[in-house]
Amino acid sequence: PGSLYVVSTPIGNLGDISQRAIEVLSQVDLIACEDTRHTQKLLSAFSIKAQTFSLHDHNERQRQEQIGNWLNEGKSIALVSDAGTPLISDPGYHIVNYLRQNEHKVVPIPGACAAIAALSVAGLPTDRFTFEGFLPSKSGQRQTVLTSLKDESRTMVFYDAPRRAIDTIKDIVEVLSGDRLVVIARELTKTFETIHHDTAQNLLEWLKEDPNQLKGEMVLIIAGKTAVKDELPPEIKNTLAILLEELP
Ligand code: SAM
Repeated sequence: PGSLYVVSTPIGNLGDISQRAIEVLSQVDLIACEDTRHTQKLLSAFSIKAQTFSLHDHNERQRQEQIGNWLNEGKSIALVSDAGTPLISDPGYHIVNYLRQNEHKVVPIPGACAAIAALSVAGLPTDRFTFEGFLPSKSGQRQTVLTSLKDESRTMVFYDAPRRAIDTIKDIVEVLSGDRLVVIARELTKTFETIHHDTAQNLLEWLKEDPNQLKGEMVLIIAGKTAVKDELPPEIKNTLAILLEELP
């Protein structure tokens, strides 16, 4: 039987496609695309001729049996999304889940992922982090999500639209505090790549002064809550400081 290859594609810079991704996309019998026209551009850039079909959240379950049959017939299939790693805030979960349950072979062809690229340059702790996907576009729902993460001590990674950045940072200031460190990683691997870190309060000023920062695509990273600094009342912190000085 054939395999399903889950193939990562670039998140902006075509140079980030991997050698294996090119090989697999050139060799498979079929490519399942989030958007066939979008993927067609990538394929032409690498002169890859392949038969594509669309597979997105709305038809994944309808197509799963057909895909299982193709694999049983010995066909090999690649799964790609518009950019980055499929299934990461992108379609593919249902088909991978179905094929795994039915003992098909599912093979990763790793590559670009905006969340991981942003995390790798954010300068915030990476030993433990949580990926939260897209923040809701409405402020009320966004505040609910942020409130549920108020005491999260791990670094938090979100996808968000830069055009909402000011509103989102306002909610961060309100719900988490203006002192919280936040990193904005915008247009990664593209011409106007910008990675900027500051407290939420300062970021707000920075964004208001430069409307260019509200364009394109971005990853938002929020530092986890640092237990001692945020939690203790000032009197206790003072007492602790005095005690610490007396320690040998
Ligand atoms: N599967 C993709 C991945 O592996 O990164 C993510 C797909 S999700 C639909 C698209 C979101 O990813 C964008 O709204 C943005 O938050 C983030 N993103 C994608 N490309 C990016 C880039 N070049 N720079 C910053 N963020 C990016």
